Amino acid sequence: MTAVDDARALLTSLTDAPIVGVWSAPGRANLIGEHTDYNEGFVFPFAIAQRTAAAVALRDDDVIRVRSTFSPDAVEVSLAGLDAAIAAGGLDWAGYPLGVAWALRQAAPDAETRGVDIALASDVPVGAGLSSSAAIEGAVASALNDVWNAGLDKVALARVGRVAENDAVGAPTGIMDQMASMLGVADAATFLDCRSLDTRAVPLGFADAGLSILVTDTLVEHAHSTGGYRERRDACERGAAAFGVSSLRDLTVDDLPRAEQILDDVTFRRVRHVITENQRVLDTVAALDADGPSAIGDLLVASHASMRDDFEISVPELDLAVDTALSNGALGARMTGGGFGGAAIALIPTGLVPAATAALRAAFAASGFRAPNIFTVTPSAGARRDV
Ligand code: ADP
Ligand code: MG
Repeated sequence: MTAVDDARALLTSLTDAPIVGVWSAPGRANLIGEHTDYNEGFVFPFAIAQRTAAAVALRDDDVIRVRSTFSPDAVEVSLAGLDAAIAAGGLDWAGYPLGVAWALRQAAPDAETRGVDIALASDVPVGAGLSSSAAIEGAVASALNDVWNAGLDKVALARVGRVAENDAVGAPTGIMDQMASMLGVADAATFLDCRSLDTRAVPLGFADAGLSILVTDTLVEHAHSTGGYRERRDACERGAAAFGVSSLRDLTVDDLPRAEQILDDVTFRRVRHVITENQRVLDTVAALDADGPSAIGDLLVASHASMRDDFEISVPELDLAVDTALSNGALGARMTGGGFGGAAIALIPTGLVPAATAALRAAFAASGFRAPNIFTVTPSAGARRDV
């Protein structure tokens, strides 16, 4: 059963009204470009095959009712009471779909809002750094955009998802995840300029080259709200302020010698990560265009070293995952996501995946680390209507 089938079945158990359609949106992995988003820089994520689906039926009243396979309880709010419900908070998981409805109505005031039942199902792992949150936002935003005739394009729907997550759920995230989920293309990654929101789907050619992306989820908890994340953002702001620019996006590798002169050592290394990471994203896109995917391995390795040594957001489990993948045939590997835990990715010949997986399990056991979750992800299509 796919998420689409599961959402359909759940909707049938919820209402006798006919199904209007099913929409779905994927999770994402970030190939390269870490902690660059809030510095208005470059990121390069891809949508994965795992998706969240939203099946919709119309209602005769003005109630939005949401139900997910994650929870036995349906949550319902009247359209008239939606603003108050969002302001009151405490909606738990329902804050994502109801927050999307709320944000969509703000973004498209002429939308023909009406009561709906929305049934949600997903095969995106939650909290594994694959953005199940962007998947649920993208599925619900795509569904309501059509059902309510809101007429928003995919970038506008990504913004709706971000507003829902920031202002309704209260999670201070950038827009990378939503853009990747909305705009994904099979066997391509989305080059995103976080300042202009310009995007380009860049072919990856992994399938033709026989390459896979192997994810090692260390299951080490990462909390963005901890001081570590705040400290990194503050250091970036200090660095930009010292140069009199609005964000580190305005600096390039040519500014590094001066940065080393005017910044303290820690701030300099934080700034050097962001500046060089932006350059690595550009270099990765150029290498893919010119030479194909086997040319990007060293950039992934350099990205990891920069996060480990300059930005100091890696942990021993992530370093072990990267080193073990590299010594078992990976062309490149790096931690992905915000850091302090979470997952690492490796670009590796598909035929080597079983042996590398075994080696990773053995290495984690030998180090006394918790057994990781290891699986491949496939660059896949973005949000769409399925039924
Ligand atoms: P992730 O890294 O997976 O995006 P987040 O904490 O950002 O982790 O988002 C996960 C949260 O999103 C879940 O705890 C839940 O509240 C909500 N969520 C994601 N997918 C679903 C779903 N299919 N049904 C209900 N809630 C979901
Ligand atoms: Mg998330």
